[in-house]
Amino acid sequence: METVDLGLALRELWGRRCPSCHRSFRIRPRPRQLSGLAREAARRLPHANPSELPERADLALCPYCGRSADVATFLTRAEDEFLDATSAWLAAVVTFEQLAFIERTLGQNPRPTFFVVRPAAPTRPAPAAVDLRPVPLGCCGEEIDLDPAWFGEVRCPYCAGATSPPA
Ligand SMILES: [Zn+2]
Ligand SMILES: [Zn+2]
Repeated sequence: METVDLGLALRELWGRRCPSCHRSFRIRPRPRQLSGLAREAARRLPHANPSELPERADLALCPYCGRSADVATFLTRAEDEFLDATSAWLAAVVTFEQLAFIERTLGQNPRPTFFVVRPAAPTRPAPAAVDLRPVPLGCCGEEIDLDPAWFGEVRCPYCAGATSPPA
């Protein structure tokens, strides 16, 4: 069975929007959060078997208000649509593999009656047009992008510790 690259680039900043305070931020998802997104993509597949989904991932945490919830509830609209497109692509890849298997096993067929074309992966959404500024997180050696108008305490989405943005 071929594994499918979900295109969830590890070091890429991902747009987030808190479901509680509705403030925006960007974060580099850790592997556990990526597995949460992969799980969400699989959940949106038609006829997905829930028992085959990856196990539950870490919660996401809002750096502004500290709300924590499933990472899927923190997706921006663009990220959400990308996840839908990824699920549709996964379904198309499954169909492709089934057709390609038929094509491969029809090797003796002198006149193949169809071509199969591997479906193209969806394109990642462009970064949201919100103006954010990078804030270093001394606790975890990471950096997140926050609202430049935010001067309050910052909760680290990785360790949940509190830190203050540089003045
Ligand atoms: Zn919040
Ligand atoms: Zn931290």
